[in-house]
Amino acid sequence: MQAEQALSGDTAAGLPLGLLGGTFDPIHFGHLRLAEEAREALGLGELRLMPAGRPPHRGEPGSTPEDRLAMARLAAAGNPALRVDDTEVRAQQKSYTVLTLEQLRAESGPLRPLVLILGADAFEGLPGWHRWKELFALAHIAVANRPGYAPHGRRWPATLSAELAAACRDRHSTDIADLRTTPAGRVIAFDMTPLAISASLIRDLVRDGHSARYLLPDSVLDYIAAHRLYRKGR
Ligand code: ATP
Repeated sequence: MQAEQALSGDTAAGLPLGLLGGTFDPIHFGHLRLAEEAREALGLGELRLMPAGRPPHRGEPGSTPEDRLAMARLAAAGNPALRVDDTEVRAQQKSYTVLTLEQLRAESGPLRPLVLILGADAFEGLPGWHRWKELFALAHIAVANRPGYAPHGRRWPATLSAELAAACRDRHSTDIADLRTTPAGRVIAFDMTPLAISASLIRDLVRDGHSARYLLPDSVLDYIAAHRLYRKGR
């Protein structure tokens, strides 16, 4: 009976919707595997890639928001489970995740579980984000390991600040099912295939005239070449 109730609750609220935001400058296989493995591991009904228009936590990206959006679209083409969302690129204001999640919550209704997907490095930086404590009321947070940020095989990041650890203490969950039964508020870590790929590595390779092949989709690499992105002296 309980299982039936949980199931009908799931159906009414919809399967969890995952959000993977990033600068995607450029999008690469680390992002795409993160999206794919999160979708499977967390049982997401839909996953949105959200390129940031004007990312507040870093310097000016090496390519325009339109280029980063176009590259994300090329990367997601052919995968019906991935949707590229241009909300942050179109917005006039800075790309604050709390504002994006407020909008997503308004669109999805109060019951649908929302899951903000973060690599371990992004998660560790959470206390620097605008209105970060409000994120927990809007979505669950799922944290993936990333090479260099936690000892291999360890799920929960080892280097959390006291502030972040305290904010997560009563929210930390190890049961994926928790993401379906409540709309927001749990923090869960999951394992993904460790891929030491970063957008900065790719920008450096392209800038120095080296090959970045097999670190990102060929379609994105072709776009970078055609638009002469990340070259010296642009
Ligand atoms: P840069 O090198 O320019 O800082 P990046 O490769 O870290 O970029 P972002 O767009 O800043 O890419 O990352 C978006 C999200 O994807 C973040 O949550 C980040 O932690 C995660 N991410 C990026 N690369 C990986 C990877 N190789 N493995 C796991 N997570 C990743």
